[in-house]
Amino acid sequence: MSTSPEIPTEQRIAVFPGSFDPVTIGHVSIVLRALPLFDRIVVAIGENTSKRYMFPLDQRLDWLKKTFADMPKVEAISFQGLTADLCVKLGAQHIVRGLRNSTDHGHERSIALMNHELRGVETIFLPALPEHAHISSTIVRELMANKADVTAFVPAAVRIP
Ligand code: ADP
Repeated sequence: MSTSPEIPTEQRIAVFPGSFDPVTIGHVSIVLRALPLFDRIVVAIGENTSKRYMFPLDQRLDWLKKTFADMPKVEAISFQGLTADLCVKLGAQHIVRGLRNSTDHGHERSIALMNHELRGVETIFLPALPEHAHISSTIVRELMANKADVTAFVPAAVRIP
């Protein structure tokens, strides 16, 4: 008599939260590397009312949607409130975050532990690839504000005339 192996039926869903002001090739790299780990990745722009952004929410969301348009497992949304609550709402068991340096690590560790305590959500950290570790939305914004060419740091969808 043969026993059939347990086939997991639950979808593995991850939320990749951020400001994406704007999305960079560093963010895209994290999504691409997380893809084999999950059935679905929800890239989610957190609407933080106390934060000032360079680009409006609609613009940032449009760039994300265009960037991931050819990846059926990836979806882009915006949300208000806690990331952990979004995870519960979507049935996501995991949060994905990228780590560029020890400053990221110190900050992210506390948030990850809090999300675990609040809602039992685990955070998966992926180290930034060496060639992306210096790329941040903050620096890209600074370059854009000074009319520098940012095409090497942002996906094709992000084009400022
Ligand atoms: P937040 O405002 O929440 O920090 P960001 O949009 O700046 O949002 O970043 C979202 C996530 O992407 C964070 O986990 C951040 O560490 C990660 N990230 C940002 N830039 C890079 C990069 N160049 N390589 C890898 N991960 C990155």
